[in-house]
Amino acid sequence: MSKYDVIIIGGGHNGLVCASYLSKKGYKILILEKNEKLGGLVNCASSLNGFSSKILGDLNIKLPKLNYNSYIVALHSEQQHTILQENNNKINFIKSNANEENQKKFSSLINKYKIYASTLSNFMYEVPPRLKSGKSKDTWQLINMGWKIRKLGKKNMREFLRVIGLNIADDLEDNLRDNTLMGLLSHEAILGSNLGPRSPGSILSLLYKQAIQNGLFASEKYDFHQLIPSLEKNCLDQGVEIKNNANVKKIITTNNQATGVILDNEEKIEAGIIISNADPKTTYFDLLGTEPLDTDFIRRAKNIRTKGNIAKLTITLKENPLIINIEKEKMNAKFIYAPDINYIERAFNASKYNKYNENLCFEFHHCVNVIVANIYYVPYVKNNTHDKEKLIQHSINLLKPFISNLEIENAELITPNEIEETYNVMGGHWHHGDFEIDQMLMMRPFYGSAQYTTPIKNLYLCSAGTHPGGGITGINGRNAAKKIIRDKI
Ligand SMILES: Cc1cc2nc3c(=O)[nH]c(=O)nc-3n(C[C@H](O)[C@H](O)[C@H](O)COP(=O)(O)OP(=O)(O)OC[C@H]3O[C@@H](n4cnc5c(N)ncnc54)[C@H](O)[C@@H]3O)c2cc1C
Repeated sequence: MSKYDVIIIGGGHNGLVCASYLSKKGYKILILEKNEKLGGLVNCASSLNGFSSKILGDLNIKLPKLNYNSYIVALHSEQQHTILQENNNKINFIKSNANEENQKKFSSLINKYKIYASTLSNFMYEVPPRLKSGKSKDTWQLINMGWKIRKLGKKNMREFLRVIGLNIADDLEDNLRDNTLMGLLSHEAILGSNLGPRSPGSILSLLYKQAIQNGLFASEKYDFHQLIPSLEKNCLDQGVEIKNNANVKKIITTNNQATGVILDNEEKIEAGIIISNADPKTTYFDLLGTEPLDTDFIRRAKNIRTKGNIAKLTITLKENPLIINIEKEKMNAKFIYAPDINYIERAFNASKYNKYNENLCFEFHHCVNVIVANIYYVPYVKNNTHDKEKLIQHSINLLKPFISNLEIENAELITPNEIEETYNVMGGHWHHGDFEIDQMLMMRPFYGSAQYTTPIKNLYLCSAGTHPGGGITGINGRNAAKKIIRDKI
């Protein structure tokens, strides 16, 4: 008999959340993490604003909240920066060049998106229904989803259905005239996705973000550094075993049923249930192998789009950074440089051809004298042909015009290729797979694998590649655990 009921491949935050829920139900669990450090892509992230408070409550985890004022600064090349603050889901303009009419329109646009996002948020904690299953449960769930959209009212429902397929640029250009505000909203819509502001569906990705993270810029923030240690402690307290530096090479199957895993060092470990916190493509192609899958399923799995395009830059300065034209008390901010729609689109265009533009977009924040920045669009390229030193210098040059004391002690950058290599995430993708209309809800990661299940009995998925997508929310791990508990009753 195997020692474990469940093996979870990967100690990312979703793997840890999934383990916590299952261990509460008495399952004996082993987490196998390839790296020394738990947390996976959380180690690349810089802010924790979307983690589910419902999950914190369920697991009885008390994460300290950050209660100080924080700002959103849209940087301007002539240092005429726009400063916003989000309080209780309301945007306040602290400083802006936009006229009153544009400020009002910006706020009402965000309110419109908020209404639609609240409809989507109804679906976040549900296992998506299975299309064409013929089961009444799935049919009812679909009808129920339709009903929740209908509850928006005729006018809002029509507008919702109109905008979800649109690109964010069109809706912004129809409503606003201020380039900075349009750039800022475009940035929020496309960050982490392989989309530009003119890509169809880029509004939907903004709505989804709002639906998940409680606010557009997510004013409720938790202490980022406490999340993984708190989740780890919760697991250990409940008897979960965690093995670091344990790289799973293969999932073992017998008669189409998952029965265990083989590690890099050839150690074989058995369990009744295997859950993969690795992305779906890696799970199917690297860990499982295509042999037990049918050709149509393989084709759909191959078609998941996983090209990442964000590089993470960390620079240590001699002293705390000073941003030109920003007062010291407003330095606790997320700084964003995405000055207008066309600038972002041009940067995106280059990445489509696996190049990066001279004029990239970025966002950063600082903690004391360390700046952590997401630079985009730096594409994932086959064979990792990036010139790292050039890319670091290029990224620093982008920041230079805004920081008056940029005396650098150390600079490190990780490309999407290195993210792939370190965390086994195909393409180094923020969401483990694009976040678009055909890769969402009952189509995430793709039709036939969207209920956290796989064609292999007792093999489940729990990563960001599943519904409701990426970001540090824990919802994927929670939903997968609920599905498994229900399946095994
Ligand atoms: C550069 C960057 C910045 C980001 N910034 C933010 C941010 O500021 N805020 C935010 O909300 N989101 C951010 N994200 C997105 C977010 O971090 C991810 O969507 C989320 O952390 C994914 O969590 P996960 O648990 O599903 O998967 P992962 O974090 O990818 O975890 C999977 C785990 O499985 C392990 N693993 C994989 N294969 C194996 C194997 N064969 N054997 C053993 N272990 C294995 C990996 O090492 C990893 O620990 C960012 C992403 C990137 C790339």
